Amino acid sequence: METLQLKAYAKINLGLDVVRRREDGYHEVRMIMQTVKLFDKLTFRLLEEREIRIKTNLGFLPVDKNNLVYKAVKLLQDTYGIEKGMEIDLFKCIPVAAGMAGGSTDCAAALVGASRLFGLDLNKKELMELGVKLGADVPYCVLRGTALSEGIGEVLTPLPPIPDCHILIAKPAVSVSTKFVYEHLDAEGIKAHPDIDGMIAAIKEGSLRGITDRMENVLETVTIPKYPVIAEIKSCMKKQGALNALMSGSGPTVFGIFEREEDAYTAKRLIQERKLANQVYVVLPFNQKTNR
Ligand code: ATP
Repeated sequence: METLQLKAYAKINLGLDVVRRREDGYHEVRMIMQTVKLFDKLTFRLLEEREIRIKTNLGFLPVDKNNLVYKAVKLLQDTYGIEKGMEIDLFKCIPVAAGMAGGSTDCAAALVGASRLFGLDLNKKELMELGVKLGADVPYCVLRGTALSEGIGEVLTPLPPIPDCHILIAKPAVSVSTKFVYEHLDAEGIKAHPDIDGMIAAIKEGSLRGITDRMENVLETVTIPKYPVIAEIKSCMKKQGALNALMSGSGPTVFGIFEREEDAYTAKRLIQERKLANQVYVVLPFNQKTNR
C-alpha cells in the first residue's frame, strides 16, 4: 500500500498593502509573506479506482469537491489523464477562515503529494502554475519561506529568511470571510500605505526591528471595527514585550513577534486566561533555504 505523509504550513503577512481595485473586481496587493511552523498533516494513499476520498478531524469542513484538497487531486487527474485515485486523511491544526491560508496550503500539499504518488514528479514551477488555477495564494504555499507577493497574490519574489524570533499566533473565536473584507475595503481611500519596500530592505539587512517597525495591514481598517477583540489581542501582545503585533491577511488571527520565548509564552497564557482567543500557539518561522 503506497502512502505518503506531508506537512502543510500556515502563513502570516508581515505586511499587507492593497494597491488598487481592478476593473474585474480583484484587488492588486503587495504583501510580505512568511511561512510559520504551524501545520496541517496530510496522509495520502493511492487508490486503484479513480476516486477521491477525504477524511478530516474537523466535522464542519467539506469533504467533497468543495475541499481544496479534492480540487487539487482532481486537477492532476484531469490534466494528466490519471486513472488512479487518492484517499487523503487531512488532520487540521491551522485555524479555519482565519487569514492563515489554511485551505491554500492544504491544496499546495495535495498537489505535491498527488504528483508524487501518481508518478508525475512535477517540479515546483509546474506545481505553482497548476496551483494558481485553484487560488491566488496556492503558488506561494508551494514556494514557502519569506517572499514578496504581488499581482493578485500570484507574482512571487523570494526574499532572504527573516532573523530568528518567536511568533505568537492567536485566533479569536470569530470567523472572517476574505470576500467580505475585500468587498468592504475602500481601496482608493487608503491614505497611509505600509512601507513594503522599507520592509524588504530590512529583511535583506537582517534587521528584525527594521521589519517589525514596518508591520502594517490595510485590511485591519475593515476587520478591527467589526471585531474589536483583534485590537485587544494586539495590545496584550505588545504589553508583554512583542516588538510588534498585527492581524494576518483578512483576519481575525493576530500574530506577535517576540525576541524572548518566555515573553511569548507569558502573553499566550494571558490571552488564554482572558479568553481573548481560543487557538493560541507559539511557533518559529519556517526557513525556505534550509527547508525547516
Ligand atoms: P486565506 O488566508 O487564504 O484567506 P483563510 O484562512 O481565510 O484563507 P481557509 O482556512 O483557507 O480561509 O478556509 C476558508 C473556507 O474554505 C472554509 O470555510 C472552508 O469551507 C473552505 N475550505 C475548503 N477546503 C479547505 C481546507 N482544506 N481547509 C480549510 N478550509 C477549506
